[in-house]
Amino acid sequence: MNLTILGSQGALPKLNKYSSSHLLEVCNKYILIDCCEGVQFQLRKNKIKFSKIEVILISHAHGDHFFGLIGLITTLSLLRRDKDLEVYCPVSVLKIIQAHLKYTNLKLSYNLKLKGLKSNSSEIIKDDSCYSIHTIPLTHSVYTNGFLIKEKKKRRKLLLDKAIENNINKIFFNKLTKGHNVVNKYGVEINYLDVTSNGDKPKSYAYCSDTAYSESYLNLIKEVDLLYCETTFLEKHRDKASSTHHSTTKDAGQLALKANVKKLLIGHFSSRYDYYDDFLGEVKQIFNNVSLSKEGRKLDI
Ligand SMILES: [Zn+2]
Ligand SMILES: [Zn+2]
Repeated sequence: MNLTILGSQGALPKLNKYSSSHLLEVCNKYILIDCCEGVQFQLRKNKIKFSKIEVILISHAHGDHFFGLIGLITTLSLLRRDKDLEVYCPVSVLKIIQAHLKYTNLKLSYNLKLKGLKSNSSEIIKDDSCYSIHTIPLTHSVYTNGFLIKEKKKRRKLLLDKAIENNINKIFFNKLTKGHNVVNKYGVEINYLDVTSNGDKPKSYAYCSDTAYSESYLNLIKEVDLLYCETTFLEKHRDKASSTHHSTTKDAGQLALKANVKKLLIGHFSSRYDYYDDFLGEVKQIFNNVSLSKEGRKLDI
């Protein structure tokens, strides 16, 4: 699992910066989380194949999180996409997209599967063979979800030397990595534990933007490998964070600490700031393992 930051900023435009957009690679597939204006340029710049995007998740109806969506939906059709595209978004965003398609009489080359979200409780919106996506109801000025993406238990790894040593036909290698015993060329049963090792630990990523501080979703993000939490404001602007339902540096630090996450990523910075060292400094007073969002930054999870 790895993450590419396509946009690090809050709502107002800033030169060479973009609003919220994260690209998560999981099981060799791409999930795009929020879709800022200009997202297509960022995808191009980061050499990301549009065709590998399987799912798009939109957190809420504020423009800095979805103004790039209609453009991307249109481009995928111009590129003659033929496989389905799943988009999970609030019902309000779904209606905007449907209206656009209707009034422009746009006929897409692929099946756009729009799923409108409206529940205030966490729900599993996708349950793939390899990963699952859960909503994280957040506290913001409009209906907003964060998203938790969890890999499922991974297959065991084949120890090739041992498999050959034990005279196992290669047609059984797949079965061994699924945790089944097999019979070798001489009719002897081989225990999978003797010729495989544990698979990699499944990873998890939680995306929480935009949100005021809340402990209501702590149980959902407990011990995730990477937590992204917005920090629109430094602590000195807490009053602004409160009135706009956003978080400060210390809010994000507290959340990461209480949820006992492994690593914290911060972003959605207000355009009033030009330097971000103070963001890191303030969070580190509470939670040390923290990184800053920056356009083009890639993180292995
Ligand atoms: Zn925002
Ligand atoms: Zn917002």
